[in-house]
Amino acid sequence: MRALVTGGAGFIGSHLIDRLVARGDSVVVIDNLSSGHASFIQNHIDTGHVTLVEGDICHPEDVNKAMAMDIDCVFHLAANPDIRLGTRITDTDLKQGTVATYNILEAMRVAGVKKIAFASSSVVYGEDAPLPTPEDHGPCMPISLYGASKQAGEGLISSWVGTFGLQAWIFRFANIIGARGTHGVIFDFIHKLKNDPSRLEVLGNGLQEKSYMEVGDCADAILHVMSQANEPLNLYNLGSHDTASVRRIAEIVVDVTGCHDASIEYTGGDRGWAGDIPRARLGIEKMLKAGFDVKMNSEEAIRYTAECLLEEIGLE
Ligand code: NAD
Repeated sequence: MRALVTGGAGFIGSHLIDRLVARGDSVVVIDNLSSGHASFIQNHIDTGHVTLVEGDICHPEDVNKAMAMDIDCVFHLAANPDIRLGTRITDTDLKQGTVATYNILEAMRVAGVKKIAFASSSVVYGEDAPLPTPEDHGPCMPISLYGASKQAGEGLISSWVGTFGLQAWIFRFANIIGARGTHGVIFDFIHKLKNDPSRLEVLGNGLQEKSYMEVGDCADAILHVMSQANEPLNLYNLGSHDTASVRRIAEIVVDVTGCHDASIEYTGGDRGWAGDIPRARLGIEKMLKAGFDVKMNSEEAIRYTAECLLEEIGLE
């Protein structure tokens, strides 16, 4: 199979590509390298298994160029990864999420590409959803601009399935963490301790409680579910069984980095920023029923990620 991975030089995309290449697929990547790194997939580029098209999915001509490369299936992962950005710049998620997803779908229609997997998010459920939240919870009322763009992307994909006969797998991810992470709470904490090992500032009161999934589990889950679920439109939460608090993450990062004298200071308030959802846990029954289970729970994934990122970032 020949796959097009949008955002394939990014954190989750590069782990997914490791698996696609391992199973024998050839891969085209379109990425503008805004938050991704060619080095994450350079080994596969060197062996000829991956072709990198440096381009922007906001530009239809770039998307058309990649889509014309005999693609069987699109994995659409490119997006602005920073939920907080929407509090300052209000059109980023609209352009790089909603409109860019339209560009991908329209290029697929024109090129006759029929399959798409989409990286959506738990944040589409909004703040008042029951926990753990099952896929059939509704109505979904996201409270961040990022969440709104993910919901819009899901709607566009569903409409292309209904109107143009696409087959789609929509994955609502929990917080995905692991090696090569370039953003997120553990990445931020390690950078803060690198700048000042005596103090760790935590946004909010530290009681935010979410579930964390290791990126290898996430990439394996995507491919497993796609091999098992064969409806025209397939919707799956991907997450782990439990949650961890931000307070616990701070303690684990302090422990792993050896900055035992760091004072952990909370900025206060029930959330990290406007649009943040303080408590999130996905129902994963559907994923389990499809025959996939995670190898790591939230705390194991957090400790493993802290160890990997400490090695990648270093404290010196
Ligand atoms: P990432 O930033 O590492 O990956 C995104 C990739 O897309 C990067 O390589 C970036 O350079 C590229 N990109 C961004 N805008 C682009 C554009 N306009 N044109 C071409 N390339 C562009 O982030 P990630 O954590 O790997 O996220 C991958 C996907 O998963 C995103 O859609 C994200 O919203 C979604 N997601 C991630 C998480 C998580 O916890 N990491 C949770 C839920 C959903």
